[in-house]
Amino acid sequence: MPFQLFNSLSGKTEEFAPAQDNLVRFYACGPTVYDYGHIGNFRTFVAVDVLRRHLLQSGRQLLHVMNITDVDDKIIRNANQKGVPIGEYTAKFEKAFLEDMDALAIQQPERISRATENIPEMIALIQGLAKKGVAYQAEDGSWYYRISKFPEYGKLSKKDFTGLITDGSGRMDADEYEKDDARDFALWKAPKEGETSWDTAIGPGRPGWHIECSAMAMKYLGESFDLHAGGEDLLFPHHENEIAQSEAATGKTFARHWMHVRFLLVEGQKMSKSLGNFYTLRDLVLMGHKPSSIRLLLMSVPYRKQLNFTFDGLVQAANSVERLRNFKIRLETSQWAEGNNPEAAAVAKNAVTEMRAALDDDLNTAQALAAIFDLVRDVNAMADQGKVTKGDIPALLEALTKFDEIFGVLQDHDATHIKATVEWARRENREEKISAAALEMAQSASFSDADVEALVAKHSEARKARDFKTSDAVRDELLAQGIILENTKDGVRWKRK
Ligand code: AMP
Ligand code: ZN
Repeated sequence: MPFQLFNSLSGKTEEFAPAQDNLVRFYACGPTVYDYGHIGNFRTFVAVDVLRRHLLQSGRQLLHVMNITDVDDKIIRNANQKGVPIGEYTAKFEKAFLEDMDALAIQQPERISRATENIPEMIALIQGLAKKGVAYQAEDGSWYYRISKFPEYGKLSKKDFTGLITDGSGRMDADEYEKDDARDFALWKAPKEGETSWDTAIGPGRPGWHIECSAMAMKYLGESFDLHAGGEDLLFPHHENEIAQSEAATGKTFARHWMHVRFLLVEGQKMSKSLGNFYTLRDLVLMGHKPSSIRLLLMSVPYRKQLNFTFDGLVQAANSVERLRNFKIRLETSQWAEGNNPEAAAVAKNAVTEMRAALDDDLNTAQALAAIFDLVRDVNAMADQGKVTKGDIPALLEALTKFDEIFGVLQDHDATHIKATVEWARRENREEKISAAALEMAQSASFSDADVEALVAKHSEARKARDFKTSDAVRDELLAQGIILENTKDGVRWKRK
């Protein structure tokens, strides 16, 4: 079955394939870098990452563009409060965002593009719209988009705007500028006292948010491209306005396919600072939660279904990651009997087929995960009965590799990221937020795998020599660094807490 993906524009699940060659050209709205990313943001970025990884595994090539919104009202306000230029203010949060992406094993898009570095492209787009009579300048110098000139306005959000035309006295949104029609939205905002602005051919000012994505998407992907993605809150007005701007300018379809990720709930409620259920990734890591558990939890529900983030769920996700990692260690380190068991090879093959079929079905990550956990359960049971043999291991490991190409949780980089977050918290005077659990896990990162292996060897030798005093001392030393030794019938295994 070819890849099926829900398209918010048509309202249907449709086959998704690139229009040209084998290259998927797509755009996903990136963060506004005025603060640290929260787990709601990362639900969307992880969902887009799953899309990326599934396309790559299906043999596609990608040109994925993500913007960084590094100028907007909040950024200007916060930078002014701190008395720093906006570039200095946003650089810190952009860096933090990229670190968080890395901690969550989110692949970098092929191109990341900052709004402030694409002002000329935005001006050109506004000029083009002005020439067509679709953009106009208000008295204060701001530029607006004239919605009455784009009859298809509302085709993405399926909203009916016909009743909302006013004589200009009505106010539909918080824009404080003068415009002809309440529905019209700002393309370019004239500067106010103390605001950062650019001197341009259409006057001084700064870009509206929507124009930035239209300009950057078309700059890198062309006037028409395969897919555009973002969280469901962006569907209206942001994406509706992107379509209006781009299609009025070019007369061509902007993005053919639109993907929207459902909003994350936390403990059953909309996440908000006032409810006390607002968590950045860094908050959770400092509480002692591993990035890999958070990633798995965010992928545990298909992107269009409601995902309710709970701490119980996070513990379950941690256990799931643990089960997978232990399974891999078991495959790699047990002394398997010689031979081949066709039954084991079939289990491996079926699991991968099922995983891929689930992802082809509108990225059904829940079902894809179920296929892998079935594999773990079945192969563990077969191994307990002595039915797994040496010849089966490569196929089983290959199935795990295929799984991890999508889910990205098997490689254990957690301690390194937790350590970096703990160090960041110290630098930022947030020491009181560092939990004992996070400290302990961070500690284990000071020990490289080679350091651990050396001590494990020392432990094993001492045990062989029946020098239990030394072997116990080494075990305690490792434990103090957050590393657990397990003596199994096949020898010693170790893992980070
Ligand atoms: P922002 O930095 O606010 O522009 O948001 C970056 C991305 O995160 C956008 O695609 C948003 O739609 C998405 N987003 C924000 N909050 C949530 C949430 N609670 N659940 C899912 N996605 C979200
Ligand atoms: Zn956007």
